[in-house]
Amino acid sequence: MAGEPRCSPADLSVVLPEVAPGDVVAAVEAAVAAAGGWARTPLPERIARLREAQRALSAAKDELARGIAIETGKPLTEALGEVGAVVAKIDLTIADAERHLAEEGNLGGPHPALIRRRSRGPAAVIGPFNFPLHLGHGANVAHLLAGNPVIFKPSPLAACVAARYGELMLAAFPPGVFQIAQGGGAEGEALCLDPRVRSVCFTGSVPVGKALARALAEDFSKDLALELGGSNALIVCADADLDKAAHAAAEGACLTAGQRCNATSRVIVERSIAREFQSRFLDALAAFQPGDPLLATTKLGPVISAAAVARYERLLAGTQGAWLLPGRVEPEVGGKRGHFVRPAVVLREDDGATDAECFVPIISLFIADDLDAAVRLQSATPFGLTASVFTRSEATFRAVGEQLEVGNLYANLPTTFSPSTLPFGGLGSSGNHRPGGRGFIRFTTDEQAVQWAGL
Ligand code: NAD
Repeated sequence: MAGEPRCSPADLSVVLPEVAPGDVVAAVEAAVAAAGGWARTPLPERIARLREAQRALSAAKDELARGIAIETGKPLTEALGEVGAVVAKIDLTIADAERHLAEEGNLGGPHPALIRRRSRGPAAVIGPFNFPLHLGHGANVAHLLAGNPVIFKPSPLAACVAARYGELMLAAFPPGVFQIAQGGGAEGEALCLDPRVRSVCFTGSVPVGKALARALAEDFSKDLALELGGSNALIVCADADLDKAAHAAAEGACLTAGQRCNATSRVIVERSIAREFQSRFLDALAAFQPGDPLLATTKLGPVISAAAVARYERLLAGTQGAWLLPGRVEPEVGGKRGHFVRPAVVLREDDGATDAECFVPIISLFIADDLDAAVRLQSATPFGLTASVFTRSEATFRAVGEQLEVGNLYANLPTTFSPSTLPFGGLGSSGNHRPGGRGFIRFTTDEQAVQWAGL
């Protein structure tokens, strides 16, 4: 992109290659030209082309994972997990396609009838930086299998690795069926608002998601699927296995340096075990020392940018409470300058109500007198992505769990535990349509009811 050179967040001496913004109008024109042919392509052929792309992606696993680590600072072990999920997603979505795209007959009623799923036409997929391939890819694959040409606009903060992913994908498809349009907000907006684009799948922040929803409000038949932020809580009940809870909270807060939509940013503990939990939690966090993301031993990489470091500093300065772990910016780690920060924990007495995501490794700890108070604290934000309850009692899990308005609910697992075998997505300000997980293909076609008489 034009302007300042972009550097690796883990090593500011590594300047990343420039990636020019794409021509959005030309990309939409090519997608429109390809749409009819791709919609008529039988599903087995679409599947065969996805399989070809899968082989190419699988062969490039290490290269892609290294690209993610260098460009976003995500530790290599996590990046390898992301690329593994990219490859596996194709199998899962093919199974979804075979199930959800099939015509339904034998419906009863006065005339023979069937329900069919029609391809919708060009789809825009907008990706975030924190899962630069996996999240966009999930929507890309669903739309491609559904017969919709895709224009993928990745995050400008991961443009290089996305460009390589794009090369590997598009070689498997006819011209115009899969395209990458690089760029930032302006390119993303132009793409999403183009009336010829019939679906938008946006993964990113709440303000941009809301702006898109407002801008598209009058185009009723254009589908907008939103994967937005979270403010995810882990509730520790008095009967919990405290070691497991402490480790899960630490992992949930520190994976991808806290920059996951499903990161644990709030921990709510019953009063009777609060002190014991606190000390085990601080012990568990000691394993997350900032380090070089390319080392296999590193569990905490840098945050993405100087702006993210500045937000971390603002939160440290502006959050009221007792700092149990004060946190610190580390401008240099292992002899390399980068955007490194340490985990921080603040014990709060307010209810933590906010409509902003934390998105850095700062954890707010709340003490609840009982589980009703814990549920009230969990519900203090407008987000509804994930929540986890640590308890040994199934009855407690059911009683607490049914009061939590979240798309993904766990017992005794980190809030980040989101395998691709399940649907994933949020309620409230966290989004709609569950584009991040299993079954998103349901939202990629238009349902048509067909009846006939006298044929
Ligand atoms: P972001 O909103 O800054 O950017 C996301 C994408 O939107 C980028 O590609 C950006 O270029 C593009 N964009 C910006 N303005 C746009 C506009 N007006 N129209 C169209 N596109 C526009 O988000 P980010 O910082 O890249 O990613 C982090 C955010 O993503 C966090 O809020 C996180 O919670 C969210 N996220 C959610 C999920 C989920 O599954 N719910 C998963 C990952 C990330």
